[in-house]
Amino acid sequence: EAVLSRIEAVDGKVGAYITVDKEGALKQADAADARLAKGEAHPLTGLPVGLKDLLCTEGVKTTCASKMLKEFVPTYDATVVTRLKEAGAVFPGKLNMDEFAMGSTSEHSALQDTRNPWDLTRFPGGSSGGSAAAVAADLCLAALGSDTGGSIRQPASHCGIVGMKPTYGRVSRYGLVAFASSLDQIGPMTKTVEDSALMMEAICGHDPKDSTSVPKEVPAFRQLMKEGEDKGLAGMTVGIPAEYWQAEGVDPEVMAAVTKGKEVLESLGARCVPVSLPHTEYAVAAYYVIAPSEASSNLARYDGIRYGMSERGGEDLLSIYKTTRSEGFGDEVKRRIIIGTYALSSGYYDAYYKKASQVRTLILEDFKTAFSACDFIISPAAPTPAGKIGEAEGDPLSMYLSDIFTLSANLAGIPGMSVPCGFTGDGLPVGLQLLGRHFDEATLLKAAWHFE
Ligand code: GLN
Repeated sequence: EAVLSRIEAVDGKVGAYITVDKEGALKQADAADARLAKGEAHPLTGLPVGLKDLLCTEGVKTTCASKMLKEFVPTYDATVVTRLKEAGAVFPGKLNMDEFAMGSTSEHSALQDTRNPWDLTRFPGGSSGGSAAAVAADLCLAALGSDTGGSIRQPASHCGIVGMKPTYGRVSRYGLVAFASSLDQIGPMTKTVEDSALMMEAICGHDPKDSTSVPKEVPAFRQLMKEGEDKGLAGMTVGIPAEYWQAEGVDPEVMAAVTKGKEVLESLGARCVPVSLPHTEYAVAAYYVIAPSEASSNLARYDGIRYGMSERGGEDLLSIYKTTRSEGFGDEVKRRIIIGTYALSSGYYDAYYKKASQVRTLILEDFKTAFSACDFIISPAAPTPAGKIGEAEGDPLSMYLSDIFTLSANLAGIPGMSVPCGFTGDGLPVGLQLLGRHFDEATLLKAAWHFE
């Protein structure tokens, strides 16, 4: 009830929620009360968790912030939702995002704007901007986002919260509306690192419904996070990649905050060493071939017949396809479909998609080499703090370039986190990114925990 009245009071200004499911949430809360009374509670029982609006929820609209799916009501829950339901979590509603998760500001939502709670004239980051803003503004206690190239870590950084992108395969993608299937991963967006660990324990683990989910035991993240607490980070080695720390165009105030974060790790006994990720300069180009290619294939299903919107005013089947897709998709989504279709077409495939896939392997090799010399890597999560709404309009290229620090983790499939490490002079939050070895989220949590 407290969260619902908070939503009523302030979400008119923030615009985080696309759908508020008041009735459903109150029912779930009653069930949670009953469970608590019986002494059968899980640590998440009764806690309000917001969901990015590309996670399927049975009987509750799942719009992907697109006109195409504006009225779409799934008949089943995503596996992560099922798992949180089993834990007894409560779902106040569905959160805004860039349409089909394509973007870095949440301004590409076809349905509404979301504002950054720290400064309402600024965007919250994206694509999981609604999730980040909702957590920052106390419109839920934790949220789920998805990260294809930074969409959990970057908005977490811009909104001063903790964002975790788990290793590819750690969390089931069943019921996550697909953007780029080889890169997409669901993860928690929370106020604290401990909450992140708690959410991870609930959502991770093998799922027979997702063939890419890995049959590995889920670590006791909260316990591992605190293990050897008294020793600080003694014995740990932190990689400082020159390509990220000397990158051009990074805001000096961001760099100052992140440098302070590095000093915190050192003061806890961690040793910083230089490492190199030499293929970083090709990451943006490779990502913006691979992600749109997969998107063009995944979004072919929105044909006006099978899902959502259907414009049937024309004469034949082709006109249903054309009008539905022309009117249903926004500009950024169309841009990706066109780039992807082009990159995959015969004659271009070898030059673009295949080449990008080869670069992807080189990026993975870079990380493997770096992790032979360190336990985890740190960098800024984003080159600048949250910008003004409308500022980046009509300039997709600079939006793509701002993903430089986050996309490589998705290309390599490694886990990444953003944890608040300071503020700019204007009081805007800055996130420190931590990148780890495959399936070693525990080390990231352990290091990040010291920032609480
Ligand atoms: N900003 C990136 C993009 O637009 C990443 C999005 C994401 O992680 N979903 O593709």
